[in-house]
Amino acid sequence: MKRFLGFIIAIAVCLSTVFAVGCSCSSCGCGQDSNRSLYEIECELSGDTLECTQQFTFYNNFENSVKQLKFNLFANAFRKDAKYSPILSQHISLAYPNGINYGEMTVKSVSQDGSALGFSIGGEDCNVLIVDLKEEVFPDESVTINMAWTVKLADVVARTGINADTINLANFYPILCGYDNGFYECVYYGIGDPYFSDCADYVVKVTADENLVVAGGGKITSESKNKGKKTTEFSLSNARSFAMVLSSKFQTISANVGNTKITYYYYDDESPDKSLNFAKTSMQLFNNTFGAYPYSTYSVVQTKFVQGGMEFPTITFISDNIEGTAYGEVIVHETAHQWWQTVVGNNEVEYGFLDEGLAEYSVVWYFENFPEHGYTRKSLINSAEQTYRVFCSVVDRLEGKVNTEMLRSLGEFSTEYEYVNIAYLKTCVMYDYLRTTIGDENFFKGLKKYYSQYAFTNAGPYDIVGIYEKLGLGTNGFFESFYSGKAII
Ligand SMILES: [Zn+2]
Repeated sequence: MKRFLGFIIAIAVCLSTVFAVGCSCSSCGCGQDSNRSLYEIECELSGDTLECTQQFTFYNNFENSVKQLKFNLFANAFRKDAKYSPILSQHISLAYPNGINYGEMTVKSVSQDGSALGFSIGGEDCNVLIVDLKEEVFPDESVTINMAWTVKLADVVARTGINADTINLANFYPILCGYDNGFYECVYYGIGDPYFSDCADYVVKVTADENLVVAGGGKITSESKNKGKKTTEFSLSNARSFAMVLSSKFQTISANVGNTKITYYYYDDESPDKSLNFAKTSMQLFNNTFGAYPYSTYSVVQTKFVQGGMEFPTITFISDNIEGTAYGEVIVHETAHQWWQTVVGNNEVEYGFLDEGLAEYSVVWYFENFPEHGYTRKSLINSAEQTYRVFCSVVDRLEGKVNTEMLRSLGEFSTEYEYVNIAYLKTCVMYDYLRTTIGDENFFKGLKKYYSQYAFTNAGPYDIVGIYEKLGLGTNGFFESFYSGKAII
């Protein structure tokens, strides 16, 4: 996500070789099926309510057998008695323009082979659906279950919600918890992006009023109309989640970059060609610098959103509340997340800095390569350093100490201000210092290697360290000093 708090560019104003990723997804044209789980979702949207069925084929590509499946229920975080609000108190007035109201997710049934399965809603905040399977599923075996569920959407400007202009549908379905020696249950923290899931295949069919244009992840495989309703089917392979936005106001323009068709959906943009160009030029640059983008579609979607933007596989949400170069910067940041989150994933609850720092440094790299926007590497890094130093000084003055450790989960950050400074700015500065220390050639060689080696997996914080270690650059101490909070900026 781009927490638009006025850093890098907003502060400055106040701030090719294509390396093939080991792609095995049909959406990138190579047509190879693989041993991934499959979501087949059918939803009908009526007013503010989604009625859905979901057939989920679980493929066990873990090392252990599994008797129980756990799914995160992110949409349930919008309910009245939620312990963790997805909206931070400072954003409530913008997020709820019509007053605070609530949504809810209700799982109605879970079955296997036509007979009901036992399930419960648990976790720390009714955030997890726990399903007991009939039999143990061993590695390389699969099982198919069916579920029915509804989501009542809150009238909220958020990743999941309905507002005057758009309907944002991210995190609207039960998604299998990411696996790391067991299923990892994500709590919906208001700070950061509280997600962790593994790559799977998706076929999603959504039926809604026919005047609604649906911008979704992956490719549209069919569209049909019946009695004032339109059904749109999407197919997305090898992706860690599926998201879409619906609006009756959308206009579109498109461009091709390599094997990818970029579509920009907008309703309030006087220069849509300029916005599209930010997506196009950043994708070209990142293709050449980090390695080719493996998906055949990428949708940049203007929508109502409190923060700057939010990334999802092959689709990004961009807030309509930003203008000028700052709007372009958000597009570049979210496009960079297609490399650093969509392709190379990570547990964003535990290690949010991994993808945010690289996305932010990719923004610096972008503006360095497109100087016509008026920024330089030096000016952007100086700006980040200056903001970070102010943060350290303010917190030190208020609390008598400042914790600059990076290996912290979202629940260990006390404010969004702290999280942004550590996960975005400090990490961005860290990468610039690394680049200065080891030189451009080694620096970008390492990022290419990281991208190709960890594509479609979830990387941990020491995987990038290991990449540079293997290049023989003696950088372990460098990373450790930043991670531990000992490095002085
Ligand atoms: Zn981000």
